[in-house]
Amino acid sequence: MSAARVALVTGSTSGIGEAVARRLAREGYAVVVHSRSSAQAGQALAAELGRAVYVQADLALDADRVRLVREAVGAWGRLDVLVNNAGISRVVPHDDLLSATPEIWQELHEVNVIAPFRLVAEARAALEAAAVDGRPGCVINISSHAGVRPKGASIPYAVSKAALNHMTRLLALSLAPRIRVNAVAPGLVDTPLTADWTQAQALWRERAPMRRAAQPDDIAQTVSLLAASDYLTGEVLALDGGLNLT
Ligand code: NAD
Repeated sequence: MSAARVALVTGSTSGIGEAVARRLAREGYAVVVHSRSSAQAGQALAAELGRAVYVQADLALDADRVRLVREAVGAWGRLDVLVNNAGISRVVPHDDLLSATPEIWQELHEVNVIAPFRLVAEARAALEAAAVDGRPGCVINISSHAGVRPKGASIPYAVSKAALNHMTRLLALSLAPRIRVNAVAPGLVDTPLTADWTQAQALWRERAPMRRAAQPDDIAQTVSLLAASDYLTGEVLALDGGLNLT
């Protein structure tokens, strides 16, 4: 198979990742759909999108990270855009320090920090090779406003996203000019992950200048804008309906 531009979107069988995969496919990208376990949903989405393949991989496992990139690049022989969307969250009240166990710290760090770094490392050669067509390769990390402000589901989650934000800037500097690296830092997004976060939903309705939480496609739209640029790099875009202004 051959295609013009190819995007790998991790965690793309639900929520934000699915919206990103759908939008990039609509824009003409060949898409690599990925998930940890929902292979049936992934295969169905890839079939629906048409120019798409599905790859299963547990991003907590390094061998799976390496295989995911190899299979993604192998599908069309190139990779232009890597969207590091897969992530996990754990809810722990910030003042309940003993409940934020080392196991929680480790699992969040493994999936939210080490996995995106390792995927960039493994995809670097393909993303750089894509740049010979005149457009830099592109990495977009889905972070969180919890990585910018002292908020979020738990301290380990917020710290993992703060690490991802800093990694975004460090990688932007070290991989330029052949690869651009940016992050989107959403506030509350209506996805399965946040379906029962009633307090946060009320906060966004009442306090956010845009008076609502984001829909997954609001995030996908911004990912698409970042992917369309040839120059923007090292930015962490707050996408919280303006809540950070209040
Ligand atoms: P979601 O649960 O629908 O999606 C998360 C995806 O990550 C799933 O597809 C899941 O399979 C994948 N994933 C988790 N652990 C994995 C692993 N070990 N290996 C492979 N894949 C794994 O949730 P979402 O809300 O769409 O979240 C997507 C991203 O957006 C996450 O990084 C999350 O932290 C971030 N985010 C979400 C919100 C929100 O309000 N929903 C806000 C800010 C940031």
